[in-house]
Amino acid sequence: MEKYDYEIVIGLEVHVELKTKTKIFCACSNSFGAEPNTNVCPVCSGFPGMLPVLNQQVVDYAIRAGLALNCEISPYSKFDRKNYFYPDLPKAYQISQFDLPICLNGYLDIYVEGRTKRIGIVRAHMEEDAGKLVHQGSITQTAFSLVDLNRSGVPLLEIVSQPDMRSAAEAREYLEKLRSTMLFAGVSDCKMQEGSLRCDANVSVRPWGEAKLGTRTEIKNLNSFRALEKAIEYEARRQMDALDDGELIVQETRTWDEEKQVTRSMRSKEEAHDYRYFPEPDLPPLMISPEWVESIAREMPELPHQAQQRLMDEYGLPPYDVAILTSTPEYLAYFDQCVVDFSQPKAVANWMMGELNKYLNQSNMEISACLVQPGHLAALLKMVDEGTISGKMAKDIFAEMFASGNEPQGIVKEKGLAQISDQDTLIAMIEEVLKANPKVVEDYLGGKQKAAGFLVGQVMKATKGQANPTLVNQLIDKCLSAQ
Ligand SMILES: [Zn+2]
Repeated sequence: MEKYDYEIVIGLEVHVELKTKTKIFCACSNSFGAEPNTNVCPVCSGFPGMLPVLNQQVVDYAIRAGLALNCEISPYSKFDRKNYFYPDLPKAYQISQFDLPICLNGYLDIYVEGRTKRIGIVRAHMEEDAGKLVHQGSITQTAFSLVDLNRSGVPLLEIVSQPDMRSAAEAREYLEKLRSTMLFAGVSDCKMQEGSLRCDANVSVRPWGEAKLGTRTEIKNLNSFRALEKAIEYEARRQMDALDDGELIVQETRTWDEEKQVTRSMRSKEEAHDYRYFPEPDLPPLMISPEWVESIAREMPELPHQAQQRLMDEYGLPPYDVAILTSTPEYLAYFDQCVVDFSQPKAVANWMMGELNKYLNQSNMEISACLVQPGHLAALLKMVDEGTISGKMAKDIFAEMFASGNEPQGIVKEKGLAQISDQDTLIAMIEEVLKANPKVVEDYLGGKQKAAGFLVGQVMKATKGQANPTLVNQLIDKCLSAQ
C-alpha cells in the first residue's frame, strides 16, 4: 500500500431497506420490481389529510438490527419531519428521526490486515424512503421526468458509523460486516444492485499526528463494494493533492462517476438546520419497554460474530476463513451441511473458498442458485480422501458438477475416471513393467533409489494416470524387495 503524509478518516452512512411485507406508514406492499405506481395509496402518495400509522414490524426489525449492532435501544424515541422539495417526495417532507433515534452507541468488529478492529456506531434511525424519478434516455437530453411512487414509504434504517475507518479497505470490510450482520439478523436482503443497501462515505484527510479532523466531503452514488473502495481512494488522493497545493477543502456533497472513475462536486453540503426539522405531529412518541426488547433478543438468530467464534472453537479454522464462510447465512448453511456429510472442515473450507467461489464469481451467481448440492461436494471430497480420485481429477469433475448439477459418483463412473486401487490389478501391471525394464530393476537393487521413480512413472503411463500413485509406490517397493 502507498504511504501518504496524511491520515485518511472515513465514516459511513448506510441505508438498509427493511424487508417488511408492507410499507412503514400504510398497508401498501413493500416489494421490489412491481409495475410503476401500483404499490401506492393516498398515504404514501402524499394526499392532503392522510394520516400515517406506524408498522410494528418496522420497529421489531429496527430493535433486532440495533441489538445485532450492539446498540442501546432507546426506551423513548420520536419521529420528525425533514423538510425539502424534490419531485419524488410528494409531501415535501420525509418522516425520519432526528434528535431521539431508536438505536444509539453500538459497534461492529471487523477483521482487516490480520487484526481485529472495532468500528463505533453513533446511531441508527427509522425513516421512510422517497419515490424514484425515471428518465427515458439520458437525464440531460430527455424532455420530461416520470415519477414512480412504489418506493415512497418503504421502511429504511439509516446506520451512521463513527469516523473510525482509516483506509478504503477498512471501509469495505465494515460495509461487508454490516451487510452480513443485517442478513443474519434477517431484517433486510441487502442487495446493492436493487438499492436495498445504499452507502454514502464521509471522507477527510489530516496530517499524521494532527488531532483535529480535516474538512470532509460526502460521496454519494456508491453502488458496489468496488465503487466504495475506488471512490474513497480517489477522493482521499484528490484532497491530499489539494492540500499539498495550498488549497482549502470545501465541505460539499460529491458524486462518484463510475464511467470516469472520479468524484465530482454535486452541491454544497447542507446542514441539519437547512431541513427545518420539527416533531411529526401525526405520530405519537414511540415508547419501547424492556420486555419488548427482551422478547426480540430471545428470538435473535445466530449472528456472524457468534458463527465465527463457533467455527474457530469447534473446527479450529483461522479468522480469515471464518470471515469468508460467514459472509451470508446461505453460504454458512452450505458449509455446515457439507461438514455434516464430510467431517473435515478445513478441506471443505478450502474447496468452498477456492473452486466453488471461483465458479460462483465467474458466473456472478449467489450460492442459493448453485446447482452443486452440499452433499455432492461432500461426496466429491470423500472420494479424494479415500483415494478413488486424485485432487486434479476432482477439479475437472467439480467443473462438470457446477455446470450440470449431477452427482460426482455418476460423473466418475460415466467417464471411467476412478483411480485403480485394486491391488491384484496393480501388482499384475507392476510385474509386467519390472519384466520389461530389467536394467532399471538391477540399478535399483544395486542401490539406486531413484530408479523406483522411473518404474512408478511407467505404471502410471500404462494406466493412463488412473492408478493410485501412493499405492503404486508401496506395491513397487514390495515387489522389488521380494526379488
Ligand atoms: Zn401506501
